[in-house]
Amino acid sequence: MMEHCINCQTEVDQNYCPSCGHPRVLKRIDGHYILHEVRNVLNFEKGILYTIRGLSIRPGKNIRGFLNEDRNRLVKPIVFLIVTSLIYSLINTFFHFEEAYISYSGESTSATTSIFAWVQSNYGYANIILAVFIGFWLKLFFRKLPFNFFEILIMLCFVMGMSMLIYAVFGLAQGLTGLKLMQVAAVIGFTYTTFAIGQFFDKGKVKSYVKTLFANLLGMLSASLLAVLIGALIDLIR
Ligand SMILES: [Zn+2]
Repeated sequence: MMEHCINCQTEVDQNYCPSCGHPRVLKRIDGHYILHEVRNVLNFEKGILYTIRGLSIRPGKNIRGFLNEDRNRLVKPIVFLIVTSLIYSLINTFFHFEEAYISYSGESTSATTSIFAWVQSNYGYANIILAVFIGFWLKLFFRKLPFNFFEILIMLCFVMGMSMLIYAVFGLAQGLTGLKLMQVAAVIGFTYTTFAIGQFFDKGKVKSYVKTLFANLLGMLSASLLAVLIGALIDLIR
């Protein structure tokens, strides 16, 4: 009797499904599996460390490669942004480096304050929302280039994830040494973002980096403006 693929129900007579490539029999989890998983995380040919290295050295080229050639070597972009944001929040819970450079004032009961408080405790999701805003301006500024809005969003997940890591590393260093490093982190983070996105769009042109800079600023500005507006509207209704 013919067996059926566990993934797509196609009839299978070999070790792998001819239609979707899924193995006919899934091997049981054993010591080899665990070892293989650990090696995948730690090796430099793919996985998280490979992703971080690739995004540090040639962000533009590597992200283009992810979009057009190979989606297995870099980790999944949205997962990457959420994980790096979690690392950032975790380090911040231990060292509280954030109060030193981000502060918002206002009545503690206002809706706007609640919105910004939510942003601070949910960087992973807040970053994805911010990416939508920055992505909108980038799409507008680079509309002649062949990237659609979703490809730009995916690129932003990688770049913003890296800048979360930069903040996390400097936050950790500040927590351990007591030196005031978060302003340095802000400069490096912003420079990295501009450099990485500019390189992604058009490596050789200065204009590409200038447009990136403005799209970033406008993205942050429009997102905060909308948050303030929604907050004010809620307060008005209450
Ligand atoms: Zn199948």
